[in-house]
Amino acid sequence: SANSPLLDVQNLVVHYGGICALNSVNLHVDSGEIVAVIGANGAGKSTLMRTIAAVKTFTSGAVLFNGQPLKKDASRVVRDGITLVPEGRRIFAPLTVRENLMLGAYTRSDRKEQEETLEEIYALFPRLKERLHQRGGTLSGGEQQMLAVARAMMSKPRLLLLDEPSLGLAPIVIDAMFDAIVKLNRELGLTILVVEQNASLALEMCHRAYVLETGTIRMEGRGSDLLQDKRVMESYLGIT
Ligand code: ATP
Repeated sequence: SANSPLLDVQNLVVHYGGICALNSVNLHVDSGEIVAVIGANGAGKSTLMRTIAAVKTFTSGAVLFNGQPLKKDASRVVRDGITLVPEGRRIFAPLTVRENLMLGAYTRSDRKEQEETLEEIYALFPRLKERLHQRGGTLSGGEQQMLAVARAMMSKPRLLLLDEPSLGLAPIVIDAMFDAIVKLNRELGLTILVVEQNASLALEMCHRAYVLETGTIRMEGRGSDLLQDKRVMESYLGIT
């Protein structure tokens, strides 16, 4: 319905063997939002993203997308409209930029729509347009992150999952990446769930955020409010 969230994660529990990585996580993402999850190394951020993308199975709880239980098959989940940009980007190094992009479109058949998405990508990331025939492995780190996001756009998701888009990038490149993410949301209407160790940037960019600590959500609120929160400042922003 109009009031139910696009993504609703309820009491989610995820294990790796005997290790509990997520312990009863509750969060939701409404259509049109950018929601951030911040947390330190090992908090469970990647596990959360991989579980919502159905790459990792969960022990108990529920993940509802558009009111329906998540499918257990990652490519079905992409078809349903959830696409993950994984940590570390996973570009196919020997393939060209264009070939990498077309791999992202494997769930779509309408050529005209694919061309429209390519035009959106070129407008957002003109660098990629200049480099269409360059091999993925020879791109800079920032260009590879652009390509990873653009490849995800090719599947025309309703929910984009971004796992640490700032990882390993220089500050100026990070700023450009976050500007592009905000444009994806504002101009193309994409709903985004992003996990980040770079708490200040994530909180500035998002509408709402959750703080994840060792598999448990400790706080939630508007990004602008969490930026002012004393506990968040001390633990995640390096301000004491
Ligand atoms: P980082 O930012 O360092 O990637 P994270 O917040 O994404 O951290 P996760 O990668 O989700 O954290 O890891 C959460 C917990 O699950 C950690 O304790 C980690 O050691 C454990 N874990 C993650 N992947 C596996 C795995 N394949 N096998 C066993 N334990 C794992």
